[in-house]
Amino acid sequence: MGKVYLTGAGPGDIDLLTVKALRVVREADVIIYDRLANPDILKEAKEGCEFVYVGKEDGRHTLPQDQINEVIYQNALKHDNVVRLKGGDPLVFGRGGEEAKYLKERGIPFEFIPGVTSAISVPAYAGIPVTHRGVAVSFKVVTGHEAPNKEHSQVDWESMKADETIVFLMGLHNLRNIAKNLMRIGRSPDTPVAVISKGTTPEQKSVTGTLETIGDIVKEAGIQTPALIVVGKVVELKPHLEWITEKE
Ligand code: SAH
Repeated sequence: MGKVYLTGAGPGDIDLLTVKALRVVREADVIIYDRLANPDILKEAKEGCEFVYVGKEDGRHTLPQDQINEVIYQNALKHDNVVRLKGGDPLVFGRGGEEAKYLKERGIPFEFIPGVTSAISVPAYAGIPVTHRGVAVSFKVVTGHEAPNKEHSQVDWESMKADETIVFLMGLHNLRNIAKNLMRIGRSPDTPVAVISKGTTPEQKSVTGTLETIGDIVKEAGIQTPALIVVGKVVELKPHLEWITEKE
């Protein structure tokens, strides 16, 4: 029986992989990976390492989570070192907790290896600090995946009245709804918003606007997934803090 390393791959830039993650990748007998994990990381694996892809291809759905759990478990029965590689951090909308629970219930030892989450690093690569003295003293990371107008939303929109930074992951296709909901609860239509696509990679592209304008701006710019949304005054710091020249 082996051990499973539930490992964060970081947001895209391979240099943001942690030293610990790199060590377990190099020792792995099998790597079970997602779409968002930079495939260049797999080149670090030793000879003979097996690769199992459980991510989503265009349009085709990912393996259901219970099947992914089972794939990890079965591999842990066969191999000594199993790396489950996930984009960003494994416990930030990464379902790493569910996978760990499944393993623990079956007596399989595991470790969490935290990764650099896109929620903080992608804004940083676009020149946006999630907190800034005098501008924002807190930030929230929220799923943008849930249809915000569904009847029993788990997302607490009312809690977003405060003037803090909000980072929405998985929200690109819901952007207009998200903006509408924030205006509905009283956030000003002029609230600054940034949308950053493929952050920390050579294809990084970002646009800025306001709650009112961002939907059209994103459409016009042809912004693609993966992308995240930053809402709040910190977005105004971008022109002062940009340090990467994005391709047109
Ligand atoms: N565990 C991951 C998040 C998984 S949810 C983490 O900690 O980063 C997937 C969402 O993350 C995407 O829909 C997108 O909103 C965001 N994301 C991940 N990588 C990104 C990147 N390089 N650029 C922009 N957004 C990214």
